[in-house]
Amino acid sequence: MEHFDWGQYALFAVLLCVLVVVEHFWPRRKMSGGAWGRRRVNLLLYGVGGLLMWWVAEPVQTAAVRMGASLGWAGLAGAALPDILKIVIGVLLVDVIQYALHRASHAIPLLWRMHQVHHADAAFDVTTSVRHHPLEVMALAALTLMLCAALGLPLVSLLLYAVLQLVHTAFCHANVAIPLPWDRALRWVMVTPDMHRVHHSERMDEGNSNFGMIFPWWDRLLRTYCAQPALGHQDMHLGLANDSARPDGFWRAVCQPFGKLS
Ligand SMILES: [Zn+2]
Repeated sequence: MEHFDWGQYALFAVLLCVLVVVEHFWPRRKMSGGAWGRRRVNLLLYGVGGLLMWWVAEPVQTAAVRMGASLGWAGLAGAALPDILKIVIGVLLVDVIQYALHRASHAIPLLWRMHQVHHADAAFDVTTSVRHHPLEVMALAALTLMLCAALGLPLVSLLLYAVLQLVHTAFCHANVAIPLPWDRALRWVMVTPDMHRVHHSERMDEGNSNFGMIFPWWDRLLRTYCAQPALGHQDMHLGLANDSARPDGFWRAVCQPFGKLS
């Protein structure tokens, strides 16, 4: 149980309360009726994913550490570099891993089956950030830890990234109106809500862009960057194409990976 990070849930609860208030007073898009119904589904998925991680965190972490040790090299942690530089490089490499896994989640059908649950949200707000199928939460945590262990990334980098990612993912999914000049400046150093909203577009070309988690540079370097949605942020359609006719719900989201692909 000590392998489970309870602090992230307390931190997210604080972020949720703050951002829900900010979204209410300064929304980027007008929220449709029934917003609390879908927010309930998103938060339930977060809770079940958390329960699953509480159950499997210890064996997953132990397996990753053993796998890393079996490779017989220290990786970045053993490099002859100042500690602070190793920590910064480690944080950047975790973000590259997240970009790669996110891109793979769109390209590999087995991973997309789970990831489509995140994209099935027909709106976009702070609760969308935690709308992930519990199996995806477990699979991505295991893959991330294995890759980090294989590269020998410092543990401090992983812990630092976990906090940064939680704060940032809540922010970049928030339905918050950020002044456009601020957005233009911010998206040189981090993924902004406007940038990430493009990724939640119903259009395939826009949905298959802006995979970045915290830093926007990998999308620009690897030509998956899309600046703005073709229909504009107010009129763009969010979610999965041909999916809106089906009612959203917790059990539908849980069963979605096992049904017909959207
Ligand atoms: Zn995605």
